[in-house]
This record gives sequence, C-alpha cells and structure tokens, in this order.
Amino acid sequence: RRAEFARLRDRPAVTQDGAKIQLLMNAGLDVDLDMLGEAGAEGIGLFRTEFQFMVAEEMPRLTAQTALYSRVMDAAGGLPVTFRTLDLGGDKVLPYMEAEREDNPALGWRAVRMGLDRPALLRLQLRALIAAARGRPLKVMFPLVASVDEFRAARALVDLEIAWANRRGRPEPARLDVGAMIEAPSVIWHLDALLPMTDFVSVGTNDLMQYLFAADRGNPRVSERYDLLSPPALRALEMIQKACAETGTPVSVCGEMAGRPLEAFVLVALGFEALSMPPAGIGPVKQMVLSCDRSAARKGIQSLLRSTSGSIRNEVETLARKLYL
Ligand code: PEP
Ligand code: MG
Repeated sequence: RRAEFARLRDRPAVTQDGAKIQLLMNAGLDVDLDMLGEAGAEGIGLFRTEFQFMVAEEMPRLTAQTALYSRVMDAAGGLPVTFRTLDLGGDKVLPYMEAEREDNPALGWRAVRMGLDRPALLRLQLRALIAAARGRPLKVMFPLVASVDEFRAARALVDLEIAWANRRGRPEPARLDVGAMIEAPSVIWHLDALLPMTDFVSVGTNDLMQYLFAADRGNPRVSERYDLLSPPALRALEMIQKACAETGTPVSVCGEMAGRPLEAFVLVALGFEALSMPPAGIGPVKQMVLSCDRSAARKGIQSLLRSTSGSIRNEVETLARKLYL
C-alpha cells in the first residue's frame, strides 16, 4: 500500500467529478519537514509553533523562533505554510513558565487567551514570523478564538508588528493572511461577524468536538463515547462550510479526522476543499478523493444528516463502499 501511495504522490487530488481537494500536512518541528515531499503534501496547513517551546529548556528567543520559521518556509519552497501562534495551556504546559493550577484546563487559560493576556509573548512571536517571511507571503492563525473581540484584538497585534517592522525599514510580507481557528462552538453562531474580519479560517475538529460534546479529548472514557460521524458533529461542520462558502472565506479542516479516509470522505461531501492532516494520512485520503464522486457523496450525506441515530458511521461506510472503496 505504501508503494501505491508513493505512486500517487505527484498526482493532484481531484474527485471523479472534477473537484480539486487541497491536501496539506500538519507539522510542528524540523523533523516533520522531510515529510513534505515524501507525503506529497501541497503545503503545511497547520504548523504548531508551541512544539518548539515544549521541547526547549527555556523560552525560545526571537532569533531561535525566527530561525525555525525561516527553515520551515525554506523547506516548503514556496508551498503555503500556515503558522498557528502559540497554543499553550490546557494540557500543554511549559516547565519554565509559571502555571496556575486550574480545575478545568481545557476550559481555562490557554491558546489565544494567554497570548492576549501576555501580548509581549505573542508580539515577539509575530515579530519572528514577519522577520522569517523576509518579504515572502505569510499566513498566521490564532488558536481557540471564542469571540470576535478576541480575534480583533489578536489581529491588532499583527498590525502593531507590521508597523514595528515598517519603522525599522524591514520588509513587509509580500502578502499577509490572518486567520482564526474554529475550535470554540461559540463562534459558529457568529460567523457572519467573524468571517469578514478574517482572511481564512481552519476548523480544529479535535477541540471543536471536545467542546461540542463536552468530552475531554484526552480521556478515552468519554472521548470515544461520541462519534464524529453523527448528525450534531456534521451539522456543525456543515454550518461552518456554508458560512464560508457564502462569504467566500477560504476554509480548511485541520483536526485529526481530516486524515482518516472515511471522515475525510464526509468532509469532502460537505464541501470542504482543503484538508490538513498528519503526513501518513495523505496517501490514503488522496486515494479516497481520486475515486470519490463528490456530488453523489453529497446527496448521500445530506439525507444521513437528518438521521435520528447518534452515529451514522455504518451508513457512511455503506455509502463510501458504493462510491469509492
Ligand atoms: C484541533 O484542535 O483540532 C487542532 C488541530 O489543534 P490541536 O490538536 O493542536 O489542539
Ligand atoms: Mg486545537
């Protein structure tokens, strides 16, 4: 199968009925970069910047951050890279950073909340990203945006850093896209306000589903109780996809589900055209895309969304077997 996937490496992922699906990979460290060419990814849809901080013994300085981001962009060789700003807190704690004990870390002081409360830290990272871009295009996104005000405030910090670079005569990115991760259910009902402020969004289904089902993603006792192939999960994703299509906002899905062929099949059926996943998922997902008829898949999924069952996995499997397996 590996050899089979390798043969598909340079083939674009296009469905039987001609829909081009962009397959991107998730990364976080230098070692992941080798996988870009090997997996045949069309870019990095999620670069988890906190990994550098988690493996370091002390807070990485501006130069170290800039050097890593620059290596990532070099390795991508012009393919798009979406850098996610620090997603610390929750289960990701740094040994060298003060951490308050929280009763509910997943609901606590994490991700962009921490960045907005410690703007010096976030600004330093944005400065490093702008410096690393050195006039190349730059894509930055903020994790766990739960309100439009948070996104507005985070975006204002980007503007401050662009002004900072300007004052020093440093080059601005050739193009700057600032995006939000859709991970907090709250924003699903405010996409009409949020999307026009963003240049793109990416759906982090790992967190989104944890919050949607109120089930700790790290606790298998509860995390495996709910199926993402279920009407509530998929209707939420459908709402996001529709709102993005209506406003012309580029959207990708970057949670783990994007890398599983059956789940990815449903995402494609719902209309998502960019999926970012662990490198090992690219071959199997591409194989699915190549053999899938999207409009037939869409019709099949539409009726399953109205199911009264808690899981529609078996029905999706039956549909997929007819359409691509
Ligand atoms: C997610 O939550 O789906 C996501 C992609 O981010 P992370 O897994 O790093 O929280
Ligand atoms: Mg997340």
